[in-house]
Amino acid sequence: MSSIEALIDIDQTESAEIRIDPITGSRSLFSRKFFQKDEVIMDFLAKSVQPTPTYLTVQVGESEHIELFPDCLACANHSCDPNCFFDTTRMQFVCIKDVAEGEEFTFFYPSAEWDMDQPFDCTCGSEECIGLIKGAKYLSVASIRKYRFTDFIQMKLKG
Ligand SMILES: [Zn+2]
Repeated sequence: MSSIEALIDIDQTESAEIRIDPITGSRSLFSRKFFQKDEVIMDFLAKSVQPTPTYLTVQVGESEHIELFPDCLACANHSCDPNCFFDTTRMQFVCIKDVAEGEEFTFFYPSAEWDMDQPFDCTCGSEECIGLIKGAKYLSVASIRKYRFTDFIQMKLKG
């Protein structure tokens, strides 16, 4: 078994699991144990670097979008009230609040995307929902103050 296969195995059994909605077929990432705020859920790698974003990538530079490994991380959905964050400097998927066993892992897409390829109307249902999600470039000052962003996005926000 290669180390890459071993990594998938460990991450899917110990930290997280993919759940597939039987009706819509959409995938989500769920916690398999309790995590404390600031705890690292798993380290990740860039499986590839793409010049343009896709729904599977996270932005780390002007024309650098990494495809995440382990693959299951691509199933983490957006929420306007997220419990996780992709730290693309340390290359760690971390909790930004306590996460219960069996709870869905979510992150704020604009925390790692400047100008999104495929904007969408958010249906996260959170009281904090900001509606149309287009990327950090379009956020209000209040949202910029409220959320955590990757180093690349922070640099862009400073202009
Ligand atoms: Zn929302």
